Parts: sequence; structure tokens; C-alpha cells
Amino acid sequence: MKIGKYKLGIINSGSFGLDGGAMFGIIPKPLWQKTNPADDVNRVRLATRNLLLESDSKKIIIDTGMGSKWDEKSKNIYAIDEMLSMNSALESKGLKAEDITDVFLTHLHFDHTGGSTFSVNAKYQPAFPNAKYYVQKQNYEWAINPSDRDRGSYIKENFQPLMDEGLLKFTNGNSMFDDEIEFLVINGHTFGQQMIKISDGINTILFCSDLMPFISHISLPYIMGYDLQPLVTLEEKLKYLKLALDENWKLFFGHDPDFAVATVKKLNERYAVDKSFRTFDET
Ligand SMILES: [Zn+2]
Repeated sequence: MKIGKYKLGIINSGSFGLDGGAMFGIIPKPLWQKTNPADDVNRVRLATRNLLLESDSKKIIIDTGMGSKWDEKSKNIYAIDEMLSMNSALESKGLKAEDITDVFLTHLHFDHTGGSTFSVNAKYQPAFPNAKYYVQKQNYEWAINPSDRDRGSYIKENFQPLMDEGLLKFTNGNSMFDDEIEFLVINGHTFGQQMIKISDGINTILFCSDLMPFISHISLPYIMGYDLQPLVTLEEKLKYLKLALDENWKLFFGHDPDFAVATVKKLNERYAVDKSFRTFDET
């Protein structure tokens, strides 16, 4: 798929598991388990699916997945699947970590920026040494001083080394990166999350990150228990689902275990999945 000067590619950098109840908030399990079956300790599968944007001068990735810095205890808690990795996914596209020019971090939760650094002899290094990393200033400020409720989601080793090396660049509110790429700020899931909209006026895709991690979250009451401000998430979903419907956007899903892209429709006044796609080739 191409939008403007960018060729879009999917990077499958891994998968892991989180509690199904937390992923679906108030939704009863008999409903959510139809699309997202739970394992024996009630975890559902999440992909870490990243987006690659390639132009003549830029090689951009959006989010970096879980990374490789996990101890055995955490690997068990989060059922981390190490069969996939960012580097092997990039290799399959003919790229190396050194080729990446820019990394857009939607937010600094560990499953979105874990792959931004790696450790050698207990020293943390940027995984993409030639890239600038972009995050909202508001999210960085929350990440270094989170609440006691969400402290476990922000692990400093995943972003502080970028700051120390001078590679972390702050975005401030909604803004354009270039002619095609726009950062859109939302605050329901955490403070200062940025979605990435890529559009050439004809085709538009929205990397909706943790506004809607799975395609089943297109349904309005499907809101994660993790969200700090669930009613704000609801307002944000209403705003962006309406835009997606009216302007025929495609939505890109970072965590859905099966589908990378979906379109939306209205059915009996409710938002629902219209078409869903595993790859860009199917779209
Ligand atoms: Zn998150």
C-alpha cells in the first residue's frame, strides 16, 4: 500500500498476553471471548504490530513492541512469545536497525517502547542508533512521574537512555510531521498518547494505538480497564470513528491478534467493523 511518498509495511515484532477482563473493561466474558479466547489463566493474545513507512529519504517505524529486556518472571506473567523480533521482521524487509531514520512512539507504555532500547552488559543502548524518536512531551512527563496505579506500565529503561543520548524529540499537541503524516493527541488511555494519521487526501490510514487495540474495540462500550479516563476514551472514540466513517479512513490495529486493518460502518446506530484485513495486500 502506498500513501503519498510512503510505502507502508507491517512489522510483526512479537506477541504477549494480558488479562482478558482488563482488556475489555465492563464487557462480560461471554461476549468478548467469542472474538478473543482466553488461556487457562484468563489471558488474551495481543500482537505487537508496528507500521513501517518508507520513502526515498526516510525509513520510519511506529512503536517498537516489547523488546528483549525481560526477566523470566515477567516472561511468564505476560506470556511473551520470543519467536518474533523487531530485527528479524526488519530483516525480512531488507532493512537493518541502523537504517531507521525516525521512530514515532505513540506513548511510553512498555509494549509500545520496549524495543526502543536493548541492554549490553547491563548498559542500555538505543536500538535504532541513527533515528530520532518522537513522543509527546506530555506523555514523557507523565511517564517519568506516573500514578501509583499505572507505574508498572512505564519502565524507565525503555526511554530514559534515549533521553540521555539526546535522541528523544518532543512533540507538542496535534501537529504535522510532513505533508502526509500528522500526530493526533488523545488522553483517555493515558496522558499525551499520539495517534499517527497518514494521508494523501485520497487514502488515509490511522494508527490508532491504544485508543482501540483490537478490532472488537470499535464497538463503543469496549474500553480497556487500564484506561485512566474511560469516559474521555469514549468521547475520543466517537470523534475518530465518525471521521473514519465519513472520510473512509482505514484503521490500523497494533494489538489485534489476527487483523492489521479494518474499516468501520454503522449498524443500527452503533459503530461496528465493516471489513477487516490481515495484510495490506488484502485491502
Ligand atoms: Zn498503552
